[in-house]
Amino acid sequence: MEPESLASTLTSEEERTNSVNRKDERRSTQPANPAFASRARVDYTGRSLSEAGNGQKEGSMLIVMKPQATEEDIRRVCQRIEALGYRPHPMPGAQRTAIGITGNPGPLEPEEFECLPGVAEAIPVSKPYKLVSREVKNEDSLIRVGPEEAGVTFGGQELQVIAGPCAIESREQAFAAAERVRRAGARLFRGGAFKPRTSPYSFQGLGKEGLEILAEVRREFGLMIVTETIDPENCDLVEEFADVLQVGARNMQNFSLLKRVGRSKRPVLLKRGMSATLEEFLMAAEYILAEGNYNVILCERGSRTFADHTRNTLDLSVIPAVKRLSHLPIIADPSHGTGKRDKVTPLARAAVAVGADGLIVEVHPEPERALSDGYQSLYPDQFEALMGEVTAIAGVLGRTTAHTTEARAELSH
Ligand code: PEP
Ligand code: MN
Repeated sequence: MEPESLASTLTSEEERTNSVNRKDERRSTQPANPAFASRARVDYTGRSLSEAGNGQKEGSMLIVMKPQATEEDIRRVCQRIEALGYRPHPMPGAQRTAIGITGNPGPLEPEEFECLPGVAEAIPVSKPYKLVSREVKNEDSLIRVGPEEAGVTFGGQELQVIAGPCAIESREQAFAAAERVRRAGARLFRGGAFKPRTSPYSFQGLGKEGLEILAEVRREFGLMIVTETIDPENCDLVEEFADVLQVGARNMQNFSLLKRVGRSKRPVLLKRGMSATLEEFLMAAEYILAEGNYNVILCERGSRTFADHTRNTLDLSVIPAVKRLSHLPIIADPSHGTGKRDKVTPLARAAVAVGADGLIVEVHPEPERALSDGYQSLYPDQFEALMGEVTAIAGVLGRTTAHTTEARAELSH
C-alpha cells in the first residue's frame, strides 16, 4: 500500500491530474486505510512511520517554493539548509522549484523553513529514498546524453536503443558491430573495456586499449558510447571516454563506486543487482543523486530465479513500478535478462510494451566467436529486425525511436 502522494501538494494542472489519477486508482484497488488520512505519517508500505523505522526517523524534508519565488528566495533557503550543516538539492519544475534536503541525521522542523520568503510549504518526505522519488519531483526526468547539438534524451517520448557487443575485443570487431547497429538506427554503442567476470581466468576486457577503440567508434560512426566502470579508481579513466558510465549489476551496491559516479559530470546507467529489491535498486540510485549527479538512467537486467530455461528472469513488472515511484527513466536489457539469443527479441518487444524508455541489447558481428556472452548476442540482421519491431510497438504507444525519426527524415527528402 502507498501513502497519500505528497505530489498532490504540487500545483501544476498536470501534476494535480496525475496525482488525482493515482489517488483514484488506489481507491478503486485498495481497501480503505485510515492511515492514508494523514498524508506524511505512513511510508510506502502503508506502515506507520514509527513502525517502519525509516523515512520520518531520518526525517528528510522537501521545501516547495511558491510559483512566484525569486532566485534570491531559493538561494536564501539553500543557504539556511547549508547553515544547518545539510545539503540542499534545488530541483526546478515546470511551475515551481522544490528543494530536497539530505544529510540531516534527524527530523527537521517545517517551521524552520516555512517562515522564509517564497516558501509555500515544507513537507516531510516519507520514503527512504528521497531525491529519486516522485514525492520530491513529480515530473519525469529527461536525461540528456552526448553533445548538446547531436545528443539524445532518455525519459522523453523517443525511446533510446543502446547496442553493441558485450566486450570490445578488437578494432575490427567493434567497427563491424558499430557499422551494423548504426545502420539499423541505434544512436548509442555499448561495449565493455573493463569486464567484471565471474572467473578471474575469463577475458577481462582490453582495458585502456578498448576505451581507445570506443573513442574511434564515436568519431567514425557518430555513436555515443556507453561503457562500464568497475571501481572508483578506474572511473577516472573511463569517464574520459564514455558518454554514459555504466554501473553493472554486480556493482549495484558498490557504494564507493556509486559515490564516485555521483560526483561525475557524465550520466550514469545503473543496472539492477541480480537479487536486488526495488527499494534497494532505488536506494542505489539515491547514492548517485545524493552526490549531486541527477542524470541517472535505471536498467532492469533480470534477477536470478529458479528458472532454468533462461539465465535470468527479466522482471518487466518493475518498469511500471519504478515509473510510479520515481521520476528517473528506466530501460531494459533483454540480453542479460534472458541469456538466450532466441528470447532477446520477444522480451525486447515486451519491455517496450510495458513502458521501458529504451533498451540495451548485445549485438556481435560473429556471436559464435565472441569472447563473452556470445550465446545471448544477436546477429546484426536480427538486431535490424528488432529495431523495426520495437519502433512499431513504440508507435502504438505514441512513442518513437531514432529509427522512426530517421525514416521520417528520409521520406521527407
Ligand atoms: C554487461 O552489460 O555486459 C554486463 C556485464 O551486464 P550486467 O552488469 O547486467 O551483468
Ligand atoms: Mn554481457
